[in-house]
Amino acid sequence: MKQWIADLLALQEVDLRVRGLKTRLSLVPDEIAKIDRDFEAEKNKLTHAKEASLSIELEIKKREAEIKEQNELAKKYQIQSAMVKKNDEYKAMMNEIENVKVKISGIETEQLVLMEKLEAARNVFKSEEKIFKDREKSILDEKNELKELEGKLQAEIEKQISSRAEVAAKVTPDILSTYSRMLGKNKGTPFAEVHQGICGNCHLKLTPQTVNSVRKEMKACCDNCGHLLYTNETTSS
Ligand SMILES: [Zn+2]
Repeated sequence: MKQWIADLLALQEVDLRVRGLKTRLSLVPDEIAKIDRDFEAEKNKLTHAKEASLSIELEIKKREAEIKEQNELAKKYQIQSAMVKKNDEYKAMMNEIENVKVKISGIETEQLVLMEKLEAARNVFKSEEKIFKDREKSILDEKNELKELEGKLQAEIEKQISSRAEVAAKVTPDILSTYSRMLGKNKGTPFAEVHQGICGNCHLKLTPQTVNSVRKEMKACCDNCGHLLYTNETTSS
C-alpha cells in the first residue's frame, strides 16, 4: 500500500471516530428531555389519581350532609305531628316522615357505592405513588449517567481533534482538499474502499478506467459520488 493511502486512511479513522462521537453526543439532550417528559407524565398521573380520590371523598361528605339534613327534617315533622289535631293531617305528616326515611335509605345506598369507589381510587393512588417515588429515585441517577456520558464524549472528541492536525499534515494538500469536501457532506465514507469494481460509498459500479487507476494506487474518485477511492484487492484478483 502506498504511503498516501495509509496516511489518508489514518486521517479518516480519526475523522469518522469524531463523527461517530458527535452523533452520539447529539442524542444526549433528547434523551435527557425524554426522561423529564416521562417523569412529568408520571407526576400528572399521580395528581389525577389524587384528584379522583378527593372528588369521591367530597361526594361522600355531600351525602353525609344530606342525610343530616333529612334527619333534621324528620325530627321536625315528628315534633309537628305531635301538635296536629286532625287525623288526616297526622297521616299526612307520617307520610312525609316515611318519604324522608326512604330518601335517607337511598342516599345511604349511594354512599356505600361511593365508599367502594373510594377504596378502588385510593388503591390506584397508592400504586401510582409507588411508581412515582421509585421513578423519582432513579431519575437523578439516569440523568447523571447521561451527563457523565456527555462529558466523556466531549473529552474524547477534544482528544481526537487535538491529535488530528499531526495526522492531517501527512496528507498532500490536493488530496486533503478533495477528502475534506467529501468529509464535509457529513455522511458516507470520504475515502471509500473499492471491492469488485463497486464503490464502497455509493455502491455503484465504477468504470474499468477508474478501477484500473485505483488498483495502480493513483488518486481516483468515484464516477458517481466523487469520493476518493482505494482498494485492498490486488491487480490479479
Ligand atoms: Zn461512489
